[in-house]
Amino acid sequence: MSVAVICTGTELLKGSCCNTDLRFAGEKLTAASLPPVLEICVPDHAGKIVSALAFALQNADIIIISGGLGPTSDDITLETAARFFGAELEEVPELKEKVAAHWALRHSGHCPKFQYKQAKIIKGGKYFDNPVGTASGIGFESNYRGEKKHIYLLPGPPAEFEAVFSGGVLPDILELQAEKLHTTGFLVCATGESSVARTVEPLLKEFAGVEIAYTATPAGTKLFISSKDPATLAQAVDAARNAIGINALIPGATSLPEALLKKLASAGLTMGCAESCTGGMIADMIVSIPGSSAVFQGGIVSYANQVKNNILHVPEEILAEHGAVSSECASAMVHGACKALNTHCAVSTTGVAGPDGGTPEKPVGLVYIAAAVNNLTAVKKLQLHGNRQTIRERAANAALFLLWQLLDAPESDQC
Ligand code: ATP
Ligand code: MG
Repeated sequence: MSVAVICTGTELLKGSCCNTDLRFAGEKLTAASLPPVLEICVPDHAGKIVSALAFALQNADIIIISGGLGPTSDDITLETAARFFGAELEEVPELKEKVAAHWALRHSGHCPKFQYKQAKIIKGGKYFDNPVGTASGIGFESNYRGEKKHIYLLPGPPAEFEAVFSGGVLPDILELQAEKLHTTGFLVCATGESSVARTVEPLLKEFAGVEIAYTATPAGTKLFISSKDPATLAQAVDAARNAIGINALIPGATSLPEALLKKLASAGLTMGCAESCTGGMIADMIVSIPGSSAVFQGGIVSYANQVKNNILHVPEEILAEHGAVSSECASAMVHGACKALNTHCAVSTTGVAGPDGGTPEKPVGLVYIAAAVNNLTAVKKLQLHGNRQTIRERAANAALFLLWQLLDAPESDQC
């Protein structure tokens, strides 16, 4: 089975909207060992959607189309697909009720007729619940040049696309596979794809039928291992984790903040952060995880030296002698954060994110990070590459990973 993704939306081609639906689908499908073989992005134009469909059908068995399921006249995906496959549309009473109820909650008066467009699906097909909007996902089968094809239409807004994809479409796609493939994914922190490959590929060759997929992220490499046999998969995952060591996060946790929060919660520890060059990114990464309030107490964006001194009590002598971008400052910041926020743990960042501000002694990409757990402190110097955003993302992830490592360090192992 192979998958193609078609994303519709003139705004996607103009660059005014980032194609996160593709990123989401690509990541989930890769994790399920079905990485898409093709992706096409087209404007909201029937002719272009038809061309994309014809090309995708020549290259894949499963076609996922995002966008254009809204109620207005510029939402043309369903009608265009129906015309292309010579299929009829049918109204589903349950969906009609949902559309009417949704309208009644938000507006007064009768639901206008055109809204009921969202109660229609391809005749003989099925629909997938959309818990965050009115446009349901739609699935149907069609014979195309003698081959059976599976088509899925999903709403474009990311929250809706993701809910419909994870809740209905992906499980449906996985059902299509004759023999189910089991997959375990985990994050290998602070390690590039080729380095992970060099470590795991020779040893995973010993396990028959095991497949491997990688995704590069600012935190490191997401590694997905798949097998049709659950016992083989478990052994392969153990072997890979043992070879990778502390950089491999718990299986199932593909996000560093999530894994870190779980670890801190189970140890009964609270955390905070003091950020200079990452400017709130660490706090954002942490609070994006549901339930983070059990562990995370707060963050201080201490961008100016004055704030580092006034709020975090970084001594003026450190700022004058070593500068804000220094291991001494990172260390003082992390202790200041623990004190100001009254936490067991903290992380800090201070560096030159660029593109300006670099000097021969302190070039762009130089970042000091620190982590503290009770009386243990670790400070690390990084020389990062990339643009301002990439440097900040890498610094934020590296700081969280430093705390992760420190939590495993024996009491005596002070850095
Ligand atoms: P609506 O009822 O909102 O019209 P729809 O299914 O018709 O839903 P679109 O009209 O295609 O969806 O897109 C609505 C908005 O969703 C777009 O303006 C854009 O902000 C966002 N969006 C659509 N497709 C994508 C995508 N592939 N990636 C990220 N955002 C998207
Ligand atoms: Mg629309």
